[in-house]
Amino acid sequence: MSINNPLDKDIKFLHGVGERRAMLLSKELGINTLNDLLYYFPFRYIDRSRIYKISEIKDDSLTYIQLRVRIIGFQHVGSGPKKRFIAIASDGTGQVELVWFKGINWIEKRLEQGREYIIFGRPSFFNGVLNVIHPEIESTLEQNNRFHTGVQGVYSTTEKLNNSQLGTKAIYTLMCNLWGTYGEYIRETLPENVICENGLMGLKEALFNIHFPVSDKALEAARFRLKFEELLGVQLNILQERSGRISKNNGFVFNKVGEKFNRFYNEKLPFPLTGAQKRVIKEIRQDTYTGHQMNRLLQGDVGSGKTLVALMSMLIACDNGFQACLMAPTEILANQHFNNISRMVDGIGVNVALLTGSTTKKQRTVIAEGLISGEIDILIGTHALIEDKVQFNNLGFVVIDEQHRFGVEQRARLWKKNDQPPHILVMTATPIPRTLAMTLYGDLDVSVIDELPPGRKPVRTLHYRDAHRLRVFGFMRDEIKKGRQVYIVYPLIKESEKMDYKALEDGCEGITRAFPPPEYVTVVVHGQMKATDKDYGMRMFKNGNANIMIATSVIEVGVDVPNASIMIIESAERFGLSQLHQLRGRVGRGAEQSYCILMSGDKLSSDSRKRLGAMVATNDGFELAELDLKLRGAGDLSGTQQSGLAFDLKIANLGRDSQIVTLARDQAEKILAVDPDLSKPENISLKMLSQKYASKKGIDFSMIS
Ligand code: ADP
Ligand code: MG
Repeated sequence: MSINNPLDKDIKFLHGVGERRAMLLSKELGINTLNDLLYYFPFRYIDRSRIYKISEIKDDSLTYIQLRVRIIGFQHVGSGPKKRFIAIASDGTGQVELVWFKGINWIEKRLEQGREYIIFGRPSFFNGVLNVIHPEIESTLEQNNRFHTGVQGVYSTTEKLNNSQLGTKAIYTLMCNLWGTYGEYIRETLPENVICENGLMGLKEALFNIHFPVSDKALEAARFRLKFEELLGVQLNILQERSGRISKNNGFVFNKVGEKFNRFYNEKLPFPLTGAQKRVIKEIRQDTYTGHQMNRLLQGDVGSGKTLVALMSMLIACDNGFQACLMAPTEILANQHFNNISRMVDGIGVNVALLTGSTTKKQRTVIAEGLISGEIDILIGTHALIEDKVQFNNLGFVVIDEQHRFGVEQRARLWKKNDQPPHILVMTATPIPRTLAMTLYGDLDVSVIDELPPGRKPVRTLHYRDAHRLRVFGFMRDEIKKGRQVYIVYPLIKESEKMDYKALEDGCEGITRAFPPPEYVTVVVHGQMKATDKDYGMRMFKNGNANIMIATSVIEVGVDVPNASIMIIESAERFGLSQLHQLRGRVGRGAEQSYCILMSGDKLSSDSRKRLGAMVATNDGFELAELDLKLRGAGDLSGTQQSGLAFDLKIANLGRDSQIVTLARDQAEKILAVDPDLSKPENISLKMLSQKYASKKGIDFSMIS
């Protein structure tokens, strides 16, 4: 919008606003200009075309009713805070009482006995008499002057706004004022061909219909148009940022596969790679060969063998004279990676080191020297890796495991560990639907391992109510007798930490009673324990010396114990779908049939029931992720508000509008193929649209868990 467009004017100039209300609108809703108000959309609509007969209203099941009534009398009732004003009205089929507790003087002056009004509000019954408390009310004359009488938008407001007479109806009125005076200044923002090709409604018509829909169909078309525009802006921006990075051409070139990789492949690889693993290694190989810096997200369900892909990629880096590092979110995981990888590369001339919070000062000095001299090829560790003290000789490849625990800033610090940024591989077991990944991961390329190693039996998932705990205990006993091991996981949420630990303690007591030592060995692992105790518990379980491990959900991301075949999740209704699926992935790694048992209370919300039902019905992580997105909406990924996104979406929802995301993506690709910088005159508005969605900050991976 050009600078001279009247719609850029301060909202205070709109008829009915003024300084004080302008300040409130700015503070409460972020509305500063006329244009901001124009883009403040209703959050739902009510049908104002239907007029009910009083005789039709039998109970208070309707949320809203609209009546055409004549006032037949007034009444003042009660005193003090209970004082109320009642207008008795009739439409010929029955009577209704319109009740006011506040603003009595004002309403009393306004209403005339014998006159006809349209009233609108929520019906309730009081002593068998139909009531509407604080109805919206207008004369039939006023009603004819309104923009339309059909579907009407409801705007969300805040308590402060309501108290300053800026409720939903007032906003509606402001919108009418705005439209009457400034509607003509709305300019189309999309090029003609984009509008035609996608069958879009024009902007002016769309904005009109989003506020004052003339029909359901028009409203639908208006929403589509506005969502499309928003998502097109986002996609244009993402694709432009990405091609900007690629064209920089400052990536290290790994131009060969050498001895380390080949010896590992020929002498060490314990099993054939799956097709998907091969494909991803090839993709990484292609990326790192071109001279562009790789930024790749590797998605693969738990147990799909991502670590092996990471290791083989790191070996390619080593073969080209570079160092590599792998960063894990917890010490337990870092240890596990270090042990596995050291074992796998033993004897092929690759030097692996481990750096975590518990590395001693003396060891640190040795590692620091090894890194600077280039003697260490692969460094594995936790957050300790990103400390500024940690300096490499020639870092070329970085793997980040279970990405959601690392923020952007932390990753950015890794990039600075060499003159040129190293290639980056971010691995996640959280399946993210394609359309969401396309948007959230901005400029990352995405690889997917969509195949599990052969011979895995799908985990069987069962849902039990707490009342049937004894049956579950019996089942555990049978399985333990066969030599299997059991995880029991308790939820742990910051807000209810005390109670959660109490539940875990009680649970431990119950388990020890049902599975008494020395016949059974149970270990407990949780965040409040000392690191050495945690380690001890983990090791006992890993070595098969404990039958049962009781843990909280935070501790064990990525633990690999193939003999553990039962995962019991306590208070399963409190976990999100993706978390449940992650936990389930801890079992089913060996040859035995594995089980995931979801324990829950008796009373479940309908969403919880859907989540648990979905877990029982499918093992497909992507299917679950799609469902999760639908249930929660993209705005609330792991409880983070939509404001956690790098850009604001006013109307589109990444979860529910995935089809439009795809359309917008295709359109953006098409446009940029012809005009990569959006510098052609006909694309000037698209350039502005794209800039509107430039990330204010990097994408925060912590949103996705
Ligand atoms: P995740 O993707 O969850 O990180 P891991 O890399 O921990 O999975 O692999 C899970 C298990 O599968 C490990 O025990 C690993 O050795 C094994 N594995 C990996 N790739 C294969 C394969 N191609 N064939 C058989 N087993 C494999
Ligand atoms: Mg892993």
